Amino acid sequence: MIAAVVTKDKKVSVEEKQLRPLKHGEALVQTEFCGVCHTDLHVKNADFGDVTGIVLGHEGIGKVIEVAEGVTSLKVGDRVSIAWMYESCGHCEYCTTGRETLCRDVKNAGYTVDGAMAEQVIVSADYAVKVPANLDPAAASSVTCAGVTTYKAVKVSNIRPGQWIGIFGIGGLGNLAVQYAKHVYGANVVAFDINDEKLAFAKEVGADAIVNLLNEDPIAKAKELTNGKGLDATVVTAVAKTPFNQAIDVVKAGARVVAVGLPVDKMDLDIPRLVLDGIQVIGTLVGTRQDLQEAFQFAAEGKVVPKVTLRKIEEINEIMEEMEQGKITGRMVIDFTK
Ligand SMILES: [Zn+2]
Ligand SMILES: [Zn+2]
Repeated sequence: MIAAVVTKDKKVSVEEKQLRPLKHGEALVQTEFCGVCHTDLHVKNADFGDVTGIVLGHEGIGKVIEVAEGVTSLKVGDRVSIAWMYESCGHCEYCTTGRETLCRDVKNAGYTVDGAMAEQVIVSADYAVKVPANLDPAAASSVTCAGVTTYKAVKVSNIRPGQWIGIFGIGGLGNLAVQYAKHVYGANVVAFDINDEKLAFAKEVGADAIVNLLNEDPIAKAKELTNGKGLDATVVTAVAKTPFNQAIDVVKAGARVVAVGLPVDKMDLDIPRLVLDGIQVIGTLVGTRQDLQEAFQFAAEGKVVPKVTLRKIEEINEIMEEMEQGKITGRMVIDFTK
């Protein structure tokens, strides 16, 4: 089968690869679609360590074509996800308290184990979440990482209906954060970015207000929208340091600032602001299997519609370059159905 494999020189090679036989509890999935995530770029560039030879991809959707011994949760024909959280240990303090994404022994698809940017992929059956029948599989691929990550971030922000939430960075994640905040949580949404095209897209998918950080003052705008109080929460999906600091500047006392983007940097925290105003800064990473099921359900109901562009596996290095240059609106999704 054909797979997108990380090479020593930080490129992706589309090559023939042989899969190992299934083990107890595993299933074989015929991939239909796999989204290209900013994390794939980090993995390819060895930002988290050298993983030469690994198959990329953690936004996979496909159909089960074989199940090994011991599989009770899936059957042949089921449509399932292949997510970043490929498998966790199942028995540590995190796994037993609904925080399985923090498991210290977690395996990650397309990073520590072979992922879904391939014609076929092996999954750990109990961790492959079923996709609702009425959800388009290409759209589902975007929910598998970008969708569940932003759904979880908005959930963690504790935003309530009618409150104001700010979303910083309107890329593949940000536009979905806008949609979950607006159409699932009933919040008022202000989108922050430096790209007018992305801001226009945020408006299209439900943002009540937009701010171009290159020529507008985010603090003044946040005050104007909230009678001088400041935003109730912010979610930062940006991949630069400055928006992380701005996300703290625009919130009111007692607010939560949820960090999702992964710039390799440190943020500045004004300690008096943090202490005197009781600001909470929280990091959140993807979502649990239950979060993914919920994120799928809202997409199946049409409340959240990922913008996807179908591409060929041979274009993977081109897509990586476009991503590096910030040229992508929505999600590029590799189509394995043809
Ligand atoms: Zn991802
Ligand atoms: Zn665990």
